[in-house]
Amino acid sequence: MKERLQELETEALGKVEKSGTIDELKQVRVEYLGKKGPITEVLRGMGKLSKEERPVIGQLANDVREKISDAIDEKQTKLEDEALEEQLKEESIDVTLPGRPVQVGGPHLLTSIIEEIEDLFLGMGFEIKEGPEVETDYYNFEALNLPKGHPARDMQDTFYITEELLMRTHTSPVQARTMGQKNGTEPVKMICPGKVYRRDTDDATHSHQFTQIEGLLVDENVRMSDLKGVLQTFAQKMFGAEREIRLRPSFFPFTEPSVEMDISCKMCGGEGCSVCKGTGWIEILGAGMVHPNVLEMAGYDSEKYSGFAFGMGPERIAMLKHGIDDIRHFYTNDVRFLSQYHKA
Ligand SMILES: [Zn+2]
Repeated sequence: MKERLQELETEALGKVEKSGTIDELKQVRVEYLGKKGPITEVLRGMGKLSKEERPVIGQLANDVREKISDAIDEKQTKLEDEALEEQLKEESIDVTLPGRPVQVGGPHLLTSIIEEIEDLFLGMGFEIKEGPEVETDYYNFEALNLPKGHPARDMQDTFYITEELLMRTHTSPVQARTMGQKNGTEPVKMICPGKVYRRDTDDATHSHQFTQIEGLLVDENVRMSDLKGVLQTFAQKMFGAEREIRLRPSFFPFTEPSVEMDISCKMCGGEGCSVCKGTGWIEILGAGMVHPNVLEMAGYDSEKYSGFAFGMGPERIAMLKHGIDDIRHFYTNDVRFLSQYHKA
């Protein structure tokens, strides 16, 4: 019996040693220390032993049981420690790796340009007005001296929702609406930025959707020289103090007289180059004195009140300011293009 117990001890300790996982260890425990294990069996056979032998074998059996149990416990602790170590190794954070940079966005170039222009005119005492992009035929055309069938409507073909509802072709209806709110007595000094729509085929200089900023000033004794002063201030603040402006006669149905404004070419200083097509001047915007019909339709006495209006395309301003050659860049949302113009 004594030999059998020592045999079992050696055998069990050998299996504990070989166990590589906690599960294997559990099996060893069940196999040797369980109720149906060989040591229990040995103890069951003690009845055959003499009185003197019984306590000796009993003691030995307990010792063997304890040794195996201790060995299993020890091994289990060791395996658990190793597992923990392994887990920590896998989950550890390598602080020497560079972090992922956070992508910082910024306003779209057009938004920046529009805000810059707004700031400029706010500084001159103009207020900012907005209006609907889906507009009535009346406000988009008729109130601006463009009755149905007027040939100038062809230049502004748009998207119609119904016969009388359309996508506005310019921001001028905001001027008509603002004037209409003033009861023909209060002065108006406003600019209206916003999106406009034309039935144009997209190319390097045309887009079916673009932005516009128009301005309107109505008061008593407004003269053409006032218009020129405001436009000159705008051009020089926007493009540099050395820029000169020139006004050329033009035609718009809602202004009389009408002008186009050019600024002197920065590239050649007026000598003539490819940017200014050899003229030394670059066209910036259209303007004029508000047509008496437009004033009358808005309820103003055109004998007493006069005014000026102007309109420009922020895309064109941005293209000239930054040397951009294709209007489509503003609308294709290529981050490589747009991110060049983020202000720091
Ligand atoms: Zn030039």
